[in-house]
Amino acid sequence: MTVGVLALQGAFIEHETMLQGLGVATLQVRLPEQLAQVERLIIPGGESTTIGKLLVRFDLLGPIQQRAAEGMPIWGTCAGMILLAKEIAEGRVEGQPALGLMDITARRNAFGRQVDSFETNLQVPALGEVPFHAVFIRAPQIDKVGEAVETLASLDDGRIVAARQAKLLATAFHPELTGDARFHELFLGL
Ligand code: GLN
Repeated sequence: MTVGVLALQGAFIEHETMLQGLGVATLQVRLPEQLAQVERLIIPGGESTTIGKLLVRFDLLGPIQQRAAEGMPIWGTCAGMILLAKEIAEGRVEGQPALGLMDITARRNAFGRQVDSFETNLQVPALGEVPFHAVFIRAPQIDKVGEAVETLASLDDGRIVAARQAKLLATAFHPELTGDARFHELFLGL
């Protein structure tokens, strides 16, 4: 199995390093030919407006939607989560392209600006009892989930920050930046 990491912009190297540590083959995806060679895809954190524009420019938007429709597992972290969402609350930039695959409403920059970035220990029942150390960098949150979506983690104040819908996984934070591979393992198991 080869896991693709969308490598247009953002934190893709860190995802690759994590996957390689798990003994998984990876491929940086920038072209439709590369997408065709992978069985799973991670959309990393970065800047969702930039990644969205590059998805269009590199002819990847339609092909990724097509692969998702065929059941390919996709995981979006942070900006990647925004791109996966069917709806983007407020912070959507006029004409911003997005994949619109997952039945969630994502709110960009929900915790404020870059300086308001933070780390916290999250309870994630799907990963067992040990809390997951989560790094939030100018992170989005999930305002709303559809019926088919399972919430995987919320902050103490109730804001949803991780969710799953069939083969789609979304995390508002960056699991590739800590040594804890449990979210990567969860994704590989979808
Ligand atoms: N704030 C960024 C956005 O709206 C996401 C930040 C991140 O991916 N770390 O796209």
